[in-house]
Amino acid sequence: MPGSAAERRFRNVDLRMKTCSCGRWQTRQFPCEHALSVYLHFERIHAAPYAICDLASYWYLLLVSCYLTYFLVLTLPTPEAQP
Ligand SMILES: [Zn+2]
Repeated sequence: MPGSAAERRFRNVDLRMKTCSCGRWQTRQFPCEHALSVYLHFERIHAAPYAICDLASYWYLLLVSCYLTYFLVLTLPTPEAQP
């Protein structure tokens, strides 16, 4: 029964295949809240099967690193701004 209250309450998360039955992980290329919840559960009991950065796609991590580099460069003080 797709879209039922029970289906919305319970999701099937596969950390190895990087999928969740909500579909957002596959669409966004980074883990949805359900996947992160499962991952954090495993991490809490010291049984996380992967590093958390392994849950996102290569392209997503590349995009994030580009944004971080861009904003880091923008926020660095210019030589004129330093006392
Ligand atoms: Zn999900």
